[in-house]
Amino acid sequence: MFDPRPAPDTSSSAVAVPLGAGIPGLDGRADRGTSRMAGQMAALEMAVSGAPLGEVLDQLVRTAQQFAGDGARATLFRVDPHAPVLRFTAGAGMSEAYTRVVDGFPIHPSSPSCGLVAFIGEAVIVRDVTADANWAPHLDLAREHGIAACWSFPIRSVGRVLGTLALYHRAPRAPDAAEAESLGMLARTAALVLERHQDAEERRRAQEALRASEERLRLTIEAAELGIWEHDVPGGRLHLDARARDCYAASAEDVGMDEVVARVHPDDRARLGGEMAAAMDPARRASVATEYRVEHPDGETRWLRVQGRVEFSGPGADARPLRGVGAVQDITAHKRAQEERERLIEAERHAWAQAARAAEVTSLVTTHLAEGVCMTDAEGRLTYMNPAAERILGWTQEELHGRILHDAVHYQRPDGRPFPMHECRLGQVLSEARPVMDFVDHWIRKDGSLVPLVTTCAPLLAEGRVLGAVLSMHDDTARRTGEAERERLLEAEHAARAEAEAANRAKTEFLAVMSHELRTPLNAIGGYTELLEMGIHGVVTDAQRTALERIQLSQRHLLGLINEVLNYAKLETGTVRYDVDNVRVQEMLSSVAGLVEPQARARRLALVIRPAPPELAVRADGEKLRQILVNLLGNAIKFTDGGGRVEVTCARNGDRVQLAVRDTGIGIPADKLETIFEPFVQVRSDLTRTAEGTGLGLAISRDLARGMDGDLSVESTPGQGSTFTLTLPAADVAG
Ligand code: ADP
Repeated sequence: MFDPRPAPDTSSSAVAVPLGAGIPGLDGRADRGTSRMAGQMAALEMAVSGAPLGEVLDQLVRTAQQFAGDGARATLFRVDPHAPVLRFTAGAGMSEAYTRVVDGFPIHPSSPSCGLVAFIGEAVIVRDVTADANWAPHLDLAREHGIAACWSFPIRSVGRVLGTLALYHRAPRAPDAAEAESLGMLARTAALVLERHQDAEERRRAQEALRASEERLRLTIEAAELGIWEHDVPGGRLHLDARARDCYAASAEDVGMDEVVARVHPDDRARLGGEMAAAMDPARRASVATEYRVEHPDGETRWLRVQGRVEFSGPGADARPLRGVGAVQDITAHKRAQEERERLIEAERHAWAQAARAAEVTSLVTTHLAEGVCMTDAEGRLTYMNPAAERILGWTQEELHGRILHDAVHYQRPDGRPFPMHECRLGQVLSEARPVMDFVDHWIRKDGSLVPLVTTCAPLLAEGRVLGAVLSMHDDTARRTGEAERERLLEAEHAARAEAEAANRAKTEFLAVMSHELRTPLNAIGGYTELLEMGIHGVVTDAQRTALERIQLSQRHLLGLINEVLNYAKLETGTVRYDVDNVRVQEMLSSVAGLVEPQARARRLALVIRPAPPELAVRADGEKLRQILVNLLGNAIKFTDGGGRVEVTCARNGDRVQLAVRDTGIGIPADKLETIFEPFVQVRSDLTRTAEGTGLGLAISRDLARGMDGDLSVESTPGQGSTFTLTLPAADVAG
């Protein structure tokens, strides 16, 4: 019900009707009222049973039209929800042309009838359209459609107008109070129907929105692979959805909290305990956002990310935690990827550090190399040059950096002709990706001078692609100078040796000639002395005989000396012949023993010749072997004082036979052990009576031994004795 109010001043004939005034009387209009009620009820029933809105409203419009009678026509407009205009919704008896015109009519104080009603929210009765100011601009339309009077009623909901119900009459006319009340009732019924419809619409939209948002949430949870958990704090139970169950490898949908806690990795348990306590503490009410590991019964460790919140019994600090809810996500793959990424970053960092170190070492090495080292890029531009290369070429690295090396140091041949890069070996190394070793090339120094360099050039390759080249070089001049110097020295040495050899030969020849020249008169001295001694030139007195004996002794000594000198000279000139044969050692030793025994006896020495196995033999010239042994035994006897001992032993050692002459004599100082084998060397000439030695015996003996593919060596301890060992090739003879 709304208050009857006068219509706003529109200077029209329209009047606002006091709708609550009339009550249907018992006259003929009672039937109209009954059928109006029936139509109204039918519309409501239709609405309740879910008939389409259009049909329900049509029913109401038809009821209104019938009620108005008198050929009246009715129309229902709804307020456009998006613009201040009316929309034709249902009509009975109005032409389509009219409908088209009025659809979209503005809701405005100057609009005729319905537009005005929708604006003011109250019924407007226009008894005669021609007398209504708002209808004035639309009289053609009214005429065209036979509209003389128009009664408009608002269809109102709480606080707003949903639409209008209009009745058009062909003759000017106003409703009485009962008519106005009935039509107002129909308009209110229409409001009910529209409200109900709108409610249903809104409910449907809300439900749809809810369904859509639930679907979105489900998809989000699904996409994020989130599991949902719910913690009944007082009951100590945990409710898990399927995915959450997978995360924890839980045995059921509903599990005890202890089952889940037992799965948590021991290293994460204490931290998680602290975080849960903070979330359960009503004073802190921390939200849960954590990551931890759980151990599945199959032995696999999973990383979980858990988020959630705990609800409390009330707002205060003494509230009890009731329920925790949240999401859990398996982030194992993510964690592994992260670990892998960290590992890769670490590996890369390590590789860089190593590369930096390698570069440092390379630079350190090349910096201190005497060899020049240059590097170029793939186009042959200099990228590096070590100090040695700077020294050799006279350029600094800064000066050549980025320049084509060939153009800077290689542009011309030694004869002045230009030298193109494609003919240069560096160019070939870069284009063919093959190394070139040790070629000698002339390089042009900064001052224009040429320097011959021995160069090796190798490509720097990465996956088969040439990145550049590395060149090592050294100055060939030095090598050439060195070679020349070596040759000069070699020549000088040859010359010196030839000279020495010539001098030696001359000396030997001189000795040979001299010895020979001396021997003849000495032999004559010997011969004539013998003749005198034999008394051929008269009787010889005792004194003369003694003198003659002395002359003979001296003559023999001198002759022996000269013979040895002659022998040595012969050895030196290489004119000695060796008649090598198998010589049985035992036979040789026996014959030599016979020669030296008188001498040993005279000096009261024990001479021991150890018997050799009968089959033991050597390859030697018998005469020369005897000469060596006599010399060694003679020396042993000579340099051993009376009461001493001289011993000869022999032994086979592989394909060699060793004959050792050992004495207990004065011995030889260590520093003389080698020199005694040189000619004319005597350890102490004062000890060696000149009549008994020349200093040539050992020199001759060693030369003879070596001439027979043997050797002679000595070991001695001064004051204790010496051992001379003669080694000769063994001979295989039958026993
Ligand atoms: P020499 O005619 O003087 O014996 P050798 O060449 O035979 O000439 O010996 C050279 C020197 O070697 C001897 O003068 C002596 O000093 C030393 N010598 C040789 N044999 C012995 C030995 N058995 N004991 C000590 N000294 C020896």
